[in-house]
Amino acid sequence: MAQSLNYEARLLALRAEYQKRIDDIAQTLAQQSQDQQDWSDQAALHENDDTIYTLRQEAQEQLQHVNAALQRLADGQYGICTSCGMEIEAKRLEAIPYATQCMSHAV
Ligand SMILES: [Zn+2]
Repeated sequence: MAQSLNYEARLLALRAEYQKRIDDIAQTLAQQSQDQQDWSDQAALHENDDTIYTLRQEAQEQLQHVNAALQRLADGQYGICTSCGMEIEAKRLEAIPYATQCMSHAV
């Protein structure tokens, strides 16, 4: 599959992007815990925390999908639907390079 190199480059770029997002969030959280002496802002701070933890969790999940896709590339299983074993449509992989299922089986 000549295209797989192209997908690998995109996956590596995505991985760097999600990793950076996670690092940024970690920095923000570290910064916040330093600022926590200001008790009057605590309520707002905690509300903000929920959002940031959700963002972090999303980024971590995306990162796992990307890593799994890179592993499938290495195993020669990339682009194969995990439900039917058929090739995933190129259009779908263009949109979601870490897709594990073809259009008929994607939830
Ligand atoms: Zn399928």
